[in-house]
Amino acid sequence: MFKPGMFKKVLIANRGEIALRVHRACQEMAIRTVAVHSTADATAMHVRLADESVCIGPPAARDSYLNVAAILSAASITGADAIHPGYGFLSENASFAEMVEAHGFAFIGPTAEHIRMMGDKIAAKDAMRRLGVPLVPGSDGALESLEEARAVAERIMYPVLIKAAAGGGGRGMKVAHSADELEEAWRVARTEAKAAFGNDAVYMEKYLDRPRHIELQVMADMHGNVVHFGERDCSLQRRHQKLVEEAGSPALTAAEREAIGAQVTQGLSKLGYRNAGTLEFLWQDGQFSFIEMNTRLQVEHPVTEMVCGVDLVKEQLRVAAGERLGYAQEDISFTGHAIECRITAEDPESFAPSPGRVNTYHAPGGLGVRVDSALYSGYAVPPHYDSLVAKLVVHGKSRAEAISRMRRALSEMVVDGIRTTLPLHQRIMEDPQFQSGDYTIHWLERFVGLRG
Ligand code: ADP
Repeated sequence: MFKPGMFKKVLIANRGEIALRVHRACQEMAIRTVAVHSTADATAMHVRLADESVCIGPPAARDSYLNVAAILSAASITGADAIHPGYGFLSENASFAEMVEAHGFAFIGPTAEHIRMMGDKIAAKDAMRRLGVPLVPGSDGALESLEEARAVAERIMYPVLIKAAAGGGGRGMKVAHSADELEEAWRVARTEAKAAFGNDAVYMEKYLDRPRHIELQVMADMHGNVVHFGERDCSLQRRHQKLVEEAGSPALTAAEREAIGAQVTQGLSKLGYRNAGTLEFLWQDGQFSFIEMNTRLQVEHPVTEMVCGVDLVKEQLRVAAGERLGYAQEDISFTGHAIECRITAEDPESFAPSPGRVNTYHAPGGLGVRVDSALYSGYAVPPHYDSLVAKLVVHGKSRAEAISRMRRALSEMVVDGIRTTLPLHQRIMEDPQFQSGDYTIHWLERFVGLRG
């Protein structure tokens, strides 16, 4: 078993901006880093900056970034003592976490048991129900038959949503507005779930017509201490995928944040949860309804860091090494407002992928501007992976200042040679409805003229 004490060398089992993000935290803590990479990423920024690097396979993710044997071998030969999984790839794979620990490395994340529990959304909802966290009305567990689905839909009333137990990335999710649409939704959701996750178990939720997506960032040590770092509003989504995130939410009061925060931290402390986690809720008519928990660092964690003045990756490293949090909930305060725009290598109108060579890259700067990106001039964005190329994050005294800062930063940013979503973000920031803060999860789909 891994022995407590701060890590000397961390292997980062990821790529792109998040690999860089983890590397930066390690470097400031005098921890050496090992990058792993596919042959397509030999010249990637995370490989260039890490202290050591190991090629773990060909471009396809299943042969490299998902290749558990190659990653564990890389950790062994480089003498790493911990593995940080980033987000995506193996970050929510309970067997991977188990294997990492079985091989004597620390896994920088929760226990395999909690990853497994929260990865099954039905088990996750059960756990939250027991902890007294409010849920979206729906089926008590998996739906066994179409008849059962009909009965639950009659009880909770249409519209309803059929969701995959193993779901992620918005896949395996279908709405039925009325009884006529139920059979089709049931069939399509199950087929999609089977194809995407190899598991066709589905459950049902009431489809909320105008919710906001509000999530809570938590951090727990191994000694039962749990705190939250407030909420992020991620209501700006296209096809259930987040594009813009804010901290705090324009819709929430400090008292509402405190109430849900207290409930969640008490629940997770009872559960014995450790490391970082995010509880995702829908928020409608002043009510929180839990939808899922992510047992890892989120893409949008920087907005929380900006308003709380905390480095969440350093906190993850500290608690994974067995340190106590060393502060209490009342020591955490929230200052100003932060916004993140996810810049992807996609056409801003059609969202068609646009990988390729970046001739010129220029990152904006100035007070309150942060860019998390692995881009550089001359870098070729490979076609094999996620299209996220930069996270542009700003912090301001107020939401209005953050918006004007984001508009200024977007106008300075240059990513020349590929198409990116920069112009779309500029249009969103200029929109009066976005500026008013009054929007739901459905707003962006209408704004870009698409149906989910
Ligand atoms: P995934 O894990 O696939 O991302 P989630 O359960 O996190 O699935 O849901 C993703 C998004 O889908 C939410 O942020 C929200 O926009 C929408 N959604 C999920 N459940 C509901 C619901 N019951 N009613 C309305 N929208 C929902």
